Amino acid sequence: MVEFTQEQEMIRQTVRRICREKLAPKVAEVDQTCEYPWDILEEFAKADLTRMFFPEKYGGLGKDLITNTMVVEEIASFNTATAHSFGGVANSRHPVLIAGTEEQKSKYIPMLIKEKGVVCLSITEPNAGSDVAGMETRAVKDGDDYVINGSKCFATNGSVAMLYFIFAVTRPGEGARGISCFLVEKGTPGLTPGRIEDKVGLRASNVSELSLEDVRVPAENMIGEEGKGFRICMTTLDKARLDAAAMGVGLARGALDYAMEYARSRVQFKQPVADFQGMQFLFADMATRLEAARSLTYETARRMETDDAEAPKFCAMAKLFSSDMAMSVTVDAVQALGGYGVMRDHPVERMMRDAKILQIFDGTNQIQKVVISRALLK
Ligand SMILES: Cc1cc2nc3c(=O)[nH]c(=O)nc-3n(C[C@H](O)[C@H](O)[C@H](O)COP(=O)(O)OP(=O)(O)OC[C@H]3O[C@@H](n4cnc5c(N)ncnc54)[C@H](O)[C@@H]3O)c2cc1C
Repeated sequence: MVEFTQEQEMIRQTVRRICREKLAPKVAEVDQTCEYPWDILEEFAKADLTRMFFPEKYGGLGKDLITNTMVVEEIASFNTATAHSFGGVANSRHPVLIAGTEEQKSKYIPMLIKEKGVVCLSITEPNAGSDVAGMETRAVKDGDDYVINGSKCFATNGSVAMLYFIFAVTRPGEGARGISCFLVEKGTPGLTPGRIEDKVGLRASNVSELSLEDVRVPAENMIGEEGKGFRICMTTLDKARLDAAAMGVGLARGALDYAMEYARSRVQFKQPVADFQGMQFLFADMATRLEAARSLTYETARRMETDDAEAPKFCAMAKLFSSDMAMSVTVDAVQALGGYGVMRDHPVERMMRDAKILQIFDGTNQIQKVVISRALLK
């Protein structure tokens, strides 16, 4: 079991209060309207949560990844889409911090904190999903600039971001070694968000297409060295996978709590359905899987925080195990409510839809197995 410090507990109570008062009453509504949670992010910002995980040197509060994981878990226990959006504002491991120059860090991190800026990490393309190195978006050097052309898809925060990290090929034919990462500011001519996706789950998070047509950026907007984009992308994804694992834990906790509460009050055969051993064993299995995922997730956060060499493998394992756990726990939660489980009047059907996406984004669970087995056998 994870033991939180007194300070972490206080942060958790703050997150819980904001979510209970401001988020919970509108979760069902935003699942229908797909409204981006600007208002909730504003509440999080007022409580310092959006700057909490950035280094103190750039205006943040320098809190650790275990606290970050705890906050994401807590938000996801109310609404996974909001937890996903929170990651776009409060990401302590985005490309500028991983590979940016001191100049880029001092320019962009305080700006992100001040503006409560959302970032978008755009890797995926219509012909390059799991095969990141197969991307076709091109960045060509032209004097002191790079000119980027291509089409991206499934970009989280694609139409609400302030900063875009665009991954593009600078050396064609060199595969993963030919990819570089560019920072493109919102409003740069030629960068156009396209269709907003109508998703089955995480409906209140923003995912869209992105078109890049002769997008001109100064060469100093390259993050890290030329040809190092793939590595930056993978390191950024490690943190995204940890967040996905935390979302799975929070989501499953919300589903289990709801299903048990329902079973205590639903009477059949003249007794609460929670009194049937068949139901009790269902809950016992759900809770056991949940705690196993929780332990792995926080162990992963601890390893990332200490820059453990095995942290990337753990990120893949935590994402794989936790998202599969969230899928099965939410399916069981729907089952525990019988027919009411599939009705929109109860939140468990939404939770089940949200869980499905956790198994797909930030690298599908098949790709997590590729990452894990490669690390094991190398
Ligand atoms: C809600 C959402 C948000 C997203 N946000 C972002 C974002 O912010 N930025 C971004 O760049 N992308 C984002 N993505 C894209 C996401 O990372 C990709 O969808 C994912 O990596 C899979 O790519 P694909 O959809 O093209 O599937 P494909 O790669 O076409 O995969 C199809 C199937 O083949 C399997 N498969 C592929 N390769 C292998 C292999 N080597 N071994 C075994 N099985 C394999 C896959 O597991 C899958 O089942 C998001 C996606 C979703 C759904």
